[in-house]
This record gives sequence, C-alpha cells and structure tokens, in this order.
Amino acid sequence: MKRRYGLLTLMILAAFLAFLTVKEDIFRKPQQESRINIPQNLSEDMDLAGGPEREVRGFPKREIVDLITMYPDLFIASGDSREKKVALTFDDGPDDVFTPQILDVLKDKDVKATFFIIGKRAKGYSKVMQRIVDECHLVGNHTWSHPDIMKISLEDAKQEVLKTEELLKPYYKDSPDRIKMFRSPYGSIDPKRVEYFGDIGYKIISWNVDSLDWKGLSAEEVKTNVLENVTKGSIILQHSAGGEGEDLSSSVKALPEIIDALKAEGFEFVTIDEIMKDEQEEDKQEKNTQK
Ligand SMILES: [Zn+2]
Repeated sequence: MKRRYGLLTLMILAAFLAFLTVKEDIFRKPQQESRINIPQNLSEDMDLAGGPEREVRGFPKREIVDLITMYPDLFIASGDSREKKVALTFDDGPDDVFTPQILDVLKDKDVKATFFIIGKRAKGYSKVMQRIVDECHLVGNHTWSHPDIMKISLEDAKQEVLKTEELLKPYYKDSPDRIKMFRSPYGSIDPKRVEYFGDIGYKIISWNVDSLDWKGLSAEEVKTNVLENVTKGSIILQHSAGGEGEDLSSSVKALPEIIDALKAEGFEFVTIDEIMKDEQEEDKQEKNTQK
C-alpha cells in the first residue's frame, strides 16, 4: 500500500515538473509570426544600459510589500481601492515602432495614459515624444539610459534622473510638478534609493498589475494577465518600446481589448497623478476612521 502511494506521489511530481517545463517554455518563446519590424541592432539612442527586460528582469530586486508599507507617501503601487479607476502605464518609450501604435489605440479609445520615458530615447524620437504630450498623456521619468540603479552609485542614478528631467521639463512647462514621478528600470529599488529620490522631490511609481508583455507572450496572454489581476485603483504595467529583438506587437494588439473589457465593467482610465490623489485621499480617510 505504502509503495503504491509512493509511486503515485512520484508520478504526480513528474507530471507537475513536466507542466512547469512546458509553461516556462511558453513564457520564454518570443512570438514568431509578427508582421511588423522588430527592432534589431539598436542604435545607441535605443540601447538599454542594463540590458533587455527579458534578460535582466526576474522578480524585481525589491520587496514590494515592505516598500509600500514603509513609504506610503513615496512608493505608490496602486490608487484608491474603493474607486473604479485604473491607470495604464507604458515603459521604455518612445520609439518609432510600437509607441505610435499604442498612441493610435489610446486616441481611438479616447483614453489618457502615463508613459515612463527613457531620456535618450526621447531625445532620439522627439516627434513621437511631442505626440505623447500633444495628445494629453502624462509622462514620468525612467532614467536616461535604463541602467539597473542598484548596480550604479546613488550619484550616477541621480544624474540619470536629472538629465531626463531636464529633457522632459520643457514639454510640461505649465505643470512641471506633474512629471516628478520616477519608475525604476527593471523595478529594482531599495529603501535607500526610495528615500534618495524622495528627497529630490520624486514619487516612486510601481504597479500592481504586470502584463508581462516583455516576455513575448501572445495577445491573449497579455490580456489575461491584465484582466485577471486588475482591481479598483490598479496601476497596470505595459511597455511602449523594447530592447533589441523585443516584440511588443501582442501588447499593442491586446490593448484595445483590455480597454474595451475594462470600460464594459465601468472602469475609468486616469493618469498617475490622478490615481495618486485618490490614494492619498483614501489614506487620509483611513487615518481619520482610526482616530
Ligand atoms: Zn524599463
């Protein structure tokens, strides 16, 4: 009897391991059937200093829960959990392949989003950058060259952010405070760096829904990752440009479906500054009821 149970356990274990291997394989395999130009041999403007997301990013090098509770006013991963609002965010742009397509969808659906901009890409693609601004989206700071800021000095990280700030400021000269938002490349950040950027006036913007679009998933998978995890006040992470050979076409394809599904459920789309306002309002009310 005992031996039979042992065999059964072994079989279940083997099946589970086989499943994991297949699943990993699905996640790793980039979409092959794309018809658009996947960027190859990136120019210096487009190169990501810390490497492509798919090679560098495992789990973000940070403890999300700790940072949210440690720095409720500085480290933001979601908005008010009572409001039916979500914020779409797009990292790593602009480029001239995927960002314009994202902008087309947002325009068509009349949705405003937040783009976390890589400074040197904005310099290289100033027309697309201008379009983001003209179409009333918000931008945040995603460093100048996309390094892993845990691997460079605090001073170098600060220079990465300030150089991008200088480039972005003229686009938002009427409301410079709106763009004091920092999203760390690869999501890697620690308490010391949260405080450091807090001291120079930045909010650190994380997310609580990850589309995992940088993994080269199908549009259906990107859509599922978003829709199955979205809640009131969610900040959703997608990308509007990639690293070398990175194909984001399925993320573009999923976007209108994601928007339509959330609209049908009554969600409103807001930019990060609005979702932060809501989050602070919720904090205030919570504190009042605790008194
Ligand atoms: Zn990034």
